[in-house]
Amino acid sequence: MRCTKAIIHLDNLKSNIINIRKFIKPATKMCVAVKADAYGHGAVECAKAAEECGVEFMAVATVDEGVELRNAGIKANILLLSLCCPEEVPAAVENEITPLVFDKEYISLFDMAASNRKDKSKKYPVHLAVDSGMGRIGCHYEQALELAKFINSTENLTLGGMQTHFAVSDSVESKNRKYTAHQHEYFMKAINAVKDDGKIDPGICHCANSAATLDLPEYQMDMVRPGIILYGYYPDQLTKEYFEKKGTPIDLKPVMTLETEVTAIRKFPKGKSIGYGRTWKAKTDTNIAVLTIGYADGLFRRFSTSKIEVAINGKSYPICGRICMDQCMVDLGKDTDVKRWDKAVIFGAKEDGALQTAADIAKKTGTISYEITSAITKRVPRVFVK
Ligand SMILES: *Cc1c(COP(=O)(O)O)cnc(C)c1O
Repeated sequence: MRCTKAIIHLDNLKSNIINIRKFIKPATKMCVAVKADAYGHGAVECAKAAEECGVEFMAVATVDEGVELRNAGIKANILLLSLCCPEEVPAAVENEITPLVFDKEYISLFDMAASNRKDKSKKYPVHLAVDSGMGRIGCHYEQALELAKFINSTENLTLGGMQTHFAVSDSVESKNRKYTAHQHEYFMKAINAVKDDGKIDPGICHCANSAATLDLPEYQMDMVRPGIILYGYYPDQLTKEYFEKKGTPIDLKPVMTLETEVTAIRKFPKGKSIGYGRTWKAKTDTNIAVLTIGYADGLFRRFSTSKIEVAINGKSYPICGRICMDQCMVDLGKDTDVKRWDKAVIFGAKEDGALQTAADIAKKTGTISYEITSAITKRVPRVFVK
């Protein structure tokens, strides 16, 4: 196996899920986001671990992602968060993937596909999406009742739930908090309209992503949809320090460690340059470590200017010069005790020798931890630790 690998601590994932479970109301269901290959962590293994924790729903973004889980034997409900195209609808229904719907044309596609099921003893559940202010998918509240009636009037479908999604629930700014409160109110209005004086059951109502799950417990409703916190990271502005101050910290452990090895150490004289564009030159005589990890592994080329460091034997060393497609170079300094084949850790769990997390790199490079872990490419083998 390549020495560049992503260690995936399924034990930490389970610990995070258990801690989230303890934090939410006992009656609230969990829908864990395992879309985008579980934010880069490996969807099948993560879904299996989540199922062992008794999670009721898994969320995916594409039908293929849902089919991958079914083929691996996942029995939990699977919620499709994004829209699919007409060609994908039959596979979605065959694999019992629950779509988010909000218009008659799309609802009819699912009704048609559901009419081809062998076992039609139960109606096929769909969840009605409400756009309360994310501006992505969902109906306006004025349309919610009509759409709910339409779903229940089809031969094969039933309203299994209602959902909305927050745009700024991970922000502490007061204007954003007001916006989130407004979104929730709007969603409640849609739910109450759909109930139609008790004639229609809106099903499982859910709106809370990671940020709302932790920070706005009053919005947990029937189900929460955490993503990033499963993988050990707080959402953006809602940091560990924020929750400590608030008195509701929750123990989250990073699940992924990205590591490689020093594949060569080379002596560099003062003035010698490194890499494409010759953006870095040795200020003194020094030792340069060559690492076999590059932007085709997910270590973005744009990180070259952000002074990213790697940890070797408990000490940090800077990546120097431009990150190449498959390799990058690290300045070890003039006198070094680093040896060839020593482990170099880019980010992750302390127990693996990491000195920074994906969140630290995200902060340095102007992005979010989500992007760092989900960008680790297929070429990097995932090594699962139970
Ligand atoms: C990705 C996603 C989530 C999870 O978001 P986190 O911020 O990672 O918790 C929840 N709901 C929807 C609709 C999503 O697309």
